[in-house]
Amino acid sequence: MLTTGKAILDVANEHSFAVPAFNISDWAMFRGIVEISEETNAPLIVGIHPDEVRHIGREMIAGIIERSHNSSVPIAIHWDHGATYEQVLQAVQYGFTSVMIDASLKPFEENIAITKKVTDSAHVIGVSVEGELGTIGGNDAYAEGGAAEIIYTDPDDAVTFVAQTGVDSLAVAIGTFHGMYPAHLKPELKLDLLKEIKSKVQIPLVLHGGSGNPDDEIREAARIGINKINISTDIKVAYHDKMREVLGSDKKVREPNAIQPACIDAMKVVAAQKIELFGAAGKASLY
Ligand SMILES: [Zn+2]
Repeated sequence: MLTTGKAILDVANEHSFAVPAFNISDWAMFRGIVEISEETNAPLIVGIHPDEVRHIGREMIAGIIERSHNSSVPIAIHWDHGATYEQVLQAVQYGFTSVMIDASLKPFEENIAITKKVTDSAHVIGVSVEGELGTIGGNDAYAEGGAAEIIYTDPDDAVTFVAQTGVDSLAVAIGTFHGMYPAHLKPELKLDLLKEIKSKVQIPLVLHGGSGNPDDEIREAARIGINKINISTDIKVAYHDKMREVLGSDKKVREPNAIQPACIDAMKVVAAQKIELFGAAGKASLY
């Protein structure tokens, strides 16, 4: 069934697991992600970035909503990295049940002001809001909302931010990069920092990036306070690596229904690993 981000994440928070937010940007990938969530009985957040919405067209959102209503697992449709108040209103109009407002690159007070404005409006109509504090790294042209260096989230700032904005969940910077992890840095999550933030704010926390961080650190993060983990790069790499293999150099290979199923299967294998790693498998029964 279709539900809000808050409804999904509050249960994850209570039961100490993380819900995967898979970014999709075409119908085949979306179908595959819903299928694997249903097969593993896991709650799902469908993440769609504004660039991805531009790519698929707003009409497809209606189809995503329709499929979510008919699903056996709870699904939230989440606007990933909303940049402005106006853009978030657009997401609400399209039928998203959860939005992110990312003003993390702006000064602290400005981040609070814009996030509060979004939260005040979104909550009137029951849409959930994710804010971001700190700066998650990003190191290639596709890595949205990131910077060359990580600025770790300050726990006391997080308390102020959550209290003053009323956000339902908070993306924190604890050692992840958007996209591929830079070769010159050792991927390492600051789990002590995560514990400290969680002890002070309690609300569901969100991890962006994380491709390249070791599985045992991710598993531990999901156990001690992270309740939503965004997955984009890993499933897209699996999908398109398989597509290159299927296409080969044979020009006669051209029908999408002959090309895409193997790519979807390859993507589903990676998605299933994430669902398992985050502790989300079987958790749809809690809703
Ligand atoms: Zn992100």
